[in-house]
Amino acid sequence: MSESESGKDERRPLTKLAQAGRKPEWTGMPGQPGAIVSPPVWRASTILYDDVAHLRRAAGSSTHERLFYGRKGTPTAWSLADALTEMEPGAEGTMLFPSGVAAIACALMAVLKPGDTLLMVDSAYDPTRNFCEHILRPYGIETIYYDPRDTVHLAVHLSDEKVRAIFLESPGSLTFEVQDVPAITAMARDRGVVTLLDNTWATPLFFPALSHGVDISILACTKYIVGHSDVMMGSVTATPDWFGKLRQTAYLFGQMVSPDDAWLAARGLRTLGVRLKQHQDSALAIAHWLKDRPEVARVLHPALPDCPGHDLWRRDFSGSTGLFSFVLNGGDDAARAALIDGLAHFGIGYSWGGFESLALPIDPARYRSATNWEAEGPAIRLHIGLEDTDDLIADLDAGLARFAQVRG
Ligand SMILES: *Cc1c(COP(=O)(O)O)cnc(C)c1O
Repeated sequence: MSESESGKDERRPLTKLAQAGRKPEWTGMPGQPGAIVSPPVWRASTILYDDVAHLRRAAGSSTHERLFYGRKGTPTAWSLADALTEMEPGAEGTMLFPSGVAAIACALMAVLKPGDTLLMVDSAYDPTRNFCEHILRPYGIETIYYDPRDTVHLAVHLSDEKVRAIFLESPGSLTFEVQDVPAITAMARDRGVVTLLDNTWATPLFFPALSHGVDISILACTKYIVGHSDVMMGSVTATPDWFGKLRQTAYLFGQMVSPDDAWLAARGLRTLGVRLKQHQDSALAIAHWLKDRPEVARVLHPALPDCPGHDLWRRDFSGSTGLFSFVLNGGDDAARAALIDGLAHFGIGYSWGGFESLALPIDPARYRSATNWEAEGPAIRLHIGLEDTDDLIADLDAGLARFAQVRG
C-alpha cells in the first residue's frame, strides 16, 4: 500500500493521510480473510517465544518493527511511525517519544558528542534552549545562538570546524520568523554539518522538511498530530543517513510511547488535513481583522505580507496553521491581562494544536540572546481553534475594548 512498483510514491499527501500505516499484517489475522480499518491497540511488555532457538533468533536479528519486548513497541506504535514516515518524502523512518521535548533531546543526543558545537536558532522553543544550557553545555557541547533571519552571519559561524549541527525552527516560537531552510541546509550539507528542524507549526503536510534539505525533522505530535489536547507525544523522522543512529540512541535511552497514546495520535493524524485547513482559514480571518485594529501595533503571522520571512513562507510552505501572535499598541501587563482575563471563548494555557482556542501572554525578550525583541507594547499569542470565527472575533473585540480602557 505504501510504494508503487517503481518505488516512487505518487500519492498526494491527503491520500497518504487516509492510507498510511495500515499494513495488512497489522489489521488482519493470518490465514483469515478480511481486515479492520485501523490497527488496534496492542498492549504488551513480555513477548512469548516458541522455544529457546526462536528466542535466540529474535534477539540476534534486527528488532525494528518486530515483536521482541514491549519497549521496542508493537504494531500500534509502528503503524503511527510508518504513517509519519510516509508523510515525509525522503525519510527512512520515524521514532516516537513521550513528548516533543523528549524528541528534541534525543535527536540532539543522536548527532552530538562532547567537543562539538551546535548552532541553535535564537527563536527556538524555550525548553529547547534549556536542554542546550542544562544538559549539553555540562557535557562539553557548546551552543551558539543565531539570528533566524541572518543566513549570511550563520555562514560565518559555519567556518568553525567544531560545528557539527544546525538546529532550525521555522517559523520560530512566539515571534514566527520564517527561515531560509533550503539555503541553510545546502550550506550545511556542503560542510558535512547535519540539520535538524522543529517542524511542529507547519507539520509535514504544509512543509515536507526533508524535501527542503533537512536531515532530521522533529514534531511535537502533542500539537496538531494528536489535535485534541489529550496526549503528549513527539516524533523524529530522519533520512537514511541518520535513521540508524537515531533509532539506536532512542533504544539506548529507553524511549517509547504507550500503545494507547499511539492509537490516539494515529486517530488524530487521519483528520489532520481537514483540521489544518479550518485552523488556517479561521486564523487568517482573525489575523486580518486584528491587523486593522488601532489597539494592535503588529500581527506576527507568516502568511501576512509584513511578517518577517513572509516571502520565504510563500515560496516554501503550502499553508499556514492556527498559531500566531500580535503586539499591542502601548499599554502594560495589567492592560494585557484585562484583555485576556475576560475572554469567554479562549482558554488561558500553554500548548496549542487542539480543537480549542487559546490566548497566552508572551514576553519573547526573556528567551532571546542573539537578537533583540523590541515591541510597541505587550504581546499575546493566539491559537485559533475550530469554534465559529464570528464568536472569536466578537470576543477579541470586547477584549480590545477592555485593554484600551485600562491603557487609557
Ligand atoms: C510544544 C512544543 C514543543 C514541545 O512539545 P511537548 O510535547 O510539549 O514536549 C516543541 N516545539 C514546539 C515548537 C512546540 O510548540
